[in-house]
Parts: sequence; structure tokens; C-alpha cells
Amino acid sequence: MNLSVVSFAACADYGHALAPALKQVLAHHGGWSALVQPGQRVLVKPNLLADATPEQAVTTHPEVVRYVVRGLRQAGAVVQVGDSPASAMNVARVWQKSGIGAICQEEQVPLLSFEQGGLRQIERDGFVFGVAKAAYEADLIVNLPKVKTHALTTLTAAVKNFYGLLPGYQKAQLHKAYPKPSQFCRLLRALHAALPPNFSIADGIVGMEGEGPANGKPVPLGFLAASRDAIALDLALCQTLRIDPRRVPYLADRAHLPPATCFERRGDTPLLARDLDVPTGAGHMLQLLPESLVRLIAPLVWVRPAFTRNCVACGRCVAACPAQALRVTKGSLPILQAKRCIACCCCHEVCPVQAIRMQRSPLLRLLGTFRELT
Ligand code: SF4
Ligand code: SF4
Repeated sequence: MNLSVVSFAACADYGHALAPALKQVLAHHGGWSALVQPGQRVLVKPNLLADATPEQAVTTHPEVVRYVVRGLRQAGAVVQVGDSPASAMNVARVWQKSGIGAICQEEQVPLLSFEQGGLRQIERDGFVFGVAKAAYEADLIVNLPKVKTHALTTLTAAVKNFYGLLPGYQKAQLHKAYPKPSQFCRLLRALHAALPPNFSIADGIVGMEGEGPANGKPVPLGFLAASRDAIALDLALCQTLRIDPRRVPYLADRAHLPPATCFERRGDTPLLARDLDVPTGAGHMLQLLPESLVRLIAPLVWVRPAFTRNCVACGRCVAACPAQALRVTKGSLPILQAKRCIACCCCHEVCPVQAIRMQRSPLLRLLGTFRELT
């Protein structure tokens, strides 16, 4: 059986070391010329979750986008760059603050707003969703996730980055339609299966730990990682970051397999000086328990937003919430209707001043503590 190759290359920063590291990580896959033919249409898909600076490590670093665009063009590809930020975000501000807008201008590559380009409706594995036309019609998608921990799914990297191919508020609506992490993760896998050929290069030079995907802390990880198989790449990242893949709901069906049967690891093996600060994803905890018990205790296991005094009452979280669970009144922090909250993290992702923390229920904290002790 041919295993998916996942390659790693050490890279300490986004300066001179980046171009050689990119070349090195691609060499294990035959370089750009093995991945794309002259004249083929390629969509480069960074993580443009929110209007954050490159130093905040929320978005893919613009220099990674620059060198990927250059490499693809040298191979003769027709390149576009695009992503749909979290709901309610102003895409122009995301482009500007993330530095991706400037890079695309300098490299003279089109930067797309998926919301303006239309979508293709897809039915797959019982799900219906609309994929940005520019992605669905591409010959190749080059997926550029940022390596981050995630308050809901524990890890966000290659597979989850494809969610940005769904334009507009659809992302939030689908969170509402599939509130259970296990359902949501099946949707992610269905989306991944419906896409054209894709190749992922994870920006793990500086990643994020703690309250990702938007409010965690930047952490130097020192690597790029690449694969034609996004699932294999995420499994290899779990191994590298010492994250149990059973805690990542969209990897659960492969989590019990020995890594050596899932992917072939090549290149540098990054060594982390310490374990990352990894949030306990609600989805993982529910998956560990028998179905009958889950039904019984599910109401006691939750992750919800909590608001701090940093709040400037901008109302973005209210606009982003797909479940209408929030409201803002003058002079007060946002008010949550807890029963409505589906823990989709959309509010957490759009807050411009990091005034939202995803808070775990007492039972979830206890289960998390128990897991650490055992
Ligand atoms: S309050 Fe936040 S986490 Fe809860 S449903 Fe609304 S956007 Fe999602
Ligand atoms: S919590 Fe954040 S997004 Fe919500 S109103 Fe306050 S500042 Fe705006």
C-alpha cells in the first residue's frame, strides 16, 4: 500500500530561511513541476480568518503566500489567491491587516473575494453546501493553513482550513445546522472529499497555542509541513505537537491506527521544547463517553463565550452569531442566551479586541483534569 507522504522542513523565521525551507519541503513531492502543469488554474488558499497582523499568528504569514505564488508561477500555473474570512468580517480590512493584500499587489496576483465570485452547490454524504466557484473550478488548490490549537476541535490545520472555501454566512449557518462537533467534523470531511485535487503546506514557523483559532498565543514551532493528503498532514501534525488525535473529532476515525500505517514521514523532525497549551475540545470529551451517558450529561458539558471588560461594544459578535444567542445593550457587555448557544466559536473568531474567551463548563474542566491525571 502506498502511504501518503508528509514532509517537514525546519524553518526558524519568515526571512531568508523561508525560500530554501519551502524548496526542501516540496522536494519530497517532486517540487512544483510535479504538482502542477503549465497553464493549469491554481487557487492558493491561506488562512485569512480575521483582521489580525502576521505577528498575531491568526492568519497564514504573507511571506509564505509570496513564495508559494512565485513557485507556482515559475512552474507555469495561472494563480489566484482567496479565502472567505469568518462571518461578519470586512474582507478588505482582513486583506490589509494580514499583509496578504500588500503581498498580492507586489506579486501582481489576483486576490479574490469569494462572496463576489459566486458558488457551486454541492451535495455530498448527506450534506448540502456551496463551494466558492474559484475553488471548485481550479485544477489544483494549494491549501496554506496556519498550525493552531482550537477551542472546539483541539487542532486546526489542513482539513479545517478548507472551511473558508464556503463563502459568506453559510459557514455560520452550517455551524447552526450541525451543532455537535462530530456532525460538524463529518461535514468538514465531506467538504474535503468534494474538492478538486489539493496540496497542503502548513505554516508552522510560528503557530498558535491556547485559545485558538483567534485568541491564543503565538508560539515558535519552527517548521513547514506539506502533503497531498490533508488528513495525513493533520495526523502527522498531531504526532509532532504531541496532541492525541482522538481529541480532534475530524480525525477520530483514524486516530486509533498507528501513525506508521497512516502516513510516511520525511524530512526534518521538529523537536518541541515543551508541550503546547492545548484547550480541551468539547467534541473530544463527548466522544469519549458512551452514547447513553452523553445524552444524560450533554447539557452539563458545554463551551460558551465569556466576555471581558476589553469589550468595546462593537456588535460584531452579535452579527456573527448564527444562533441569535447574543445581544449588546448600551454600556454593558454582550448578553448570552446560553440555551441558544451552539458553541460554534464564530463570536470568538470575530472579536477585534480579544474580549471573548471560550469558557468550559465545570464538568468539562473536571473531565479535562481527569484526563490529565490518567
Ligand atoms: S454565542 Fe458565540 S459560540 Fe454561541 S452560538 Fe453564538 S457565535 Fe456561536
Ligand atoms: S465582545 Fe468583542 S465582538 Fe463582541 S461586542 Fe465586545 S468587542 Fe465587539
